[in-house]
Formats: sequence, C-alpha cells, structure tokens
Amino acid sequence: MTPTPADVLDAIRDPDADADIVRLGYIKGLQVDESRVAFTVVAPRPDTAFAQQAAEACRRVIREKLGSDLTVDVEVDSPAIGLGVDVSAGGKAVQTKTIPGVRHTIAVASGKGGVGKSTVAVNLAVALAQQGYAVGLVDTDIYGPSIPTMFGIPDTEKPRVDEDRKIVPLERLGVKLLSMGFLVDQTKAVIWRGPMVSSAVRQFLGDAKWGELDYLVLDLPPGTGDIQLTIVQTIALTGAVVVSTPQEVALADARKGIAMFDNVHVPVLGIVENMAYFTPPDLPDRKYYLFGEGGAKRLAEARGLPFLGQIPIDQDVREGGDAGTPVIVREPDSVVAQAFRHVARSTVASVDIRVAEQPPTLATEILYR
Ligand code: ADP
Repeated sequence: MTPTPADVLDAIRDPDADADIVRLGYIKGLQVDESRVAFTVVAPRPDTAFAQQAAEACRRVIREKLGSDLTVDVEVDSPAIGLGVDVSAGGKAVQTKTIPGVRHTIAVASGKGGVGKSTVAVNLAVALAQQGYAVGLVDTDIYGPSIPTMFGIPDTEKPRVDEDRKIVPLERLGVKLLSMGFLVDQTKAVIWRGPMVSSAVRQFLGDAKWGELDYLVLDLPPGTGDIQLTIVQTIALTGAVVVSTPQEVALADARKGIAMFDNVHVPVLGIVENMAYFTPPDLPDRKYYLFGEGGAKRLAEARGLPFLGQIPIDQDVREGGDAGTPVIVREPDSVVAQAFRHVARSTVASVDIRVAEQPPTLATEILYR
C-alpha cells in the first residue's frame, strides 16, 4: 500500500527525543508517490558525517516500517533550501515576517461569528500545552476579545512591560496569553482601519516576550474582511485552521475563509466541525445532528483539506467558557475533551506535513484600495 505523507513522518519521528527532526521542521520537500518517497533533511553542515548518518537512518527506518520495496531518496542540504521569493505566488513577495523563537504560527479562523472559533482556539492551545508543547495564544479580536473571559482573567489584570520594554504575556494552564483587548480601548476600536490593525498586531506580536514556543495560536476576529486579511498578511503564518458548524450558512462562510487564505497563499491546515451533534446526557448512545450531518467534513473532502475532527455540542463547553475554565480542564474525561485532544493531535500532524511538503509562507504585500 502506498504510504501517506503522515506515515512517512511518523516513521521518522522520535517523539521522546528533544531533537525530533520532524517536530523541529528539518524535513523539507517531502514527496510521496506509489513506490517512492523523497525528501530533504535540512542540516546546518550537510557535509558532516553526522548529517549523512541522519539521512541514512531515515532511509533505513522508512523501509523497515513502510516496506522494503520502497525507493527512498533522501538528500541533505543546508537550511537555505526552500526559502526565498516565490515568484509563482504572483504579486510581490516580501521578506517572511516570522517571530523570533516561535516555530509555528497557526491562525484559527471562521467565516462567521458564533461558530465556536474562540472556544476551539482556547481548547486547542490548552490541549497542545497538555501534550507537552510550548504554546502561546493571542486574541486578535479588537472588537470583541473573549479569550480573557474564557481563561477567567479579571479586567484588572494586564500584562506588564519589562525593563527591555517588552510585553510579558500572562500565563494560564501552561499557555502564554495576550489579548489585543489588553491594549485597545474598546470604545475606539470600531473606527480602526486595516493599517492601524496591521501596525498594532505587528507591534503586539513582535514586542512580546514569548520565549521559545512550538505553537503560537492566533484567534482571528470572525469574518473575511479587511481586518482579517490584514492580520493574516502581517506575519508569516504556518497555516490556518478553519472552524465551521455543519450548517449550510456557516459552510458558505467557511468557503469564503478558505478562499481568503488561498488568495494570500496561506495553507489551510484543516477544518474543525464544531457543534457537530448533540448527545443527551441520559441517552449516551444517541447522536442528534441539530445543524445537519457531516457538512464540514464533506467540505474538507471536496477541497482536499484535512478534516481535523468533530466537536459535539455540550453544555460543559459553554459553561466552561463562561466560567473561565476550558472544558478540556474542567471535564478532562468527557467525550468533548477527548474530541479537542484529537483535534490538537491532528493539527500537529497537519502542521508537520505542511512544513515538510511546502516552503515557508511568504508575507505578500498588502494592498489597500
Ligand atoms: P466565535 O469565536 O466563533 O464567535 P465562541 O467560541 O465565542 O464563538 O462561541 C460562541 C458561544 O458558543 C459561546 O458561548 C461558547 O461557549 C458556545 N460554544 C462554542 N462551542 C460549543 C460547543 N461545542 N458546545 C456548546 N457550546 C459551544
């Protein structure tokens, strides 16, 4: 059977090692077809015996685990591979704006408000932290920041600025947190235009003391307008997670969200179907598809995007959000908490595949009409 890119990465990953080369993003240019696997191992000194041994070890382990008849072509190259200006992207590509120390930046987006985007962002961030990753979360919704509430952060608690004039994120449940709501006077935010948002987001992300992070999760404001477009172009995102309910009106907006990311060449890491079904507590074997069945899953399939998982409708999710304790911590053994942990694992896998298969995202020039 032909292996998938995920099979190849799983075969060479060493989850116990600090130096897991998949997690570190050292696998590039991955191509898998019927009987051939090809990729490049990025090494600072490709000509050293160590780098060659690493390539040989990858070759051996893939054939051991996935089939001895596979042709495995592994090259070793220096980190410059895959970087540079992507002319095929159209428009002008500019220097990639990454945040120092932050390995992967994931935007959580939805075409429409109220589908549970912030809830997914929060539980995803906490699930990733629980799985041992270093995680930050930024609420970029200047109009209606909800993340402070979802973590139970009182209005009086603000991040401090240290002696280097850097903003020090707050920390809750192992996640470093910042909210644009900490900075912005809510009554004035409504008149903000794209360029103001862009400079605020850039300053906010760039001037914060994140330290070393595996994942920085960005909760975007709902919608696909000027503000969202500006934010996704301000930094080089690794990719985007699109949240939708199975309902047609939500799916239509999710399609617009996918189109927005396509336009700015940000890979969509996958789709999460929230409020997928309801199981009454006294009828644990029943599933009621209140908003229709499997719509987001079909959208993912139709677009050839990963389906990251289904989250049921659950009273504990809403109560956890309101009470400031995400459901994944409040009810860790519940079906819904397991569903969020599944989404976190599929997101990690999707990021790894995206990093291995495609060059880094380039921040394209922002045009204002
Ligand atoms: P968005 O960020 O898309 O506007 P929120 O995450 O703020 O949406 O969620 C909107 C409301 O729906 C919140 O009250 C939240 O607690 C609730 N909610 C989200 N997902 C679920 C779910 N799976 N089950 C029950 N309530 C949910």
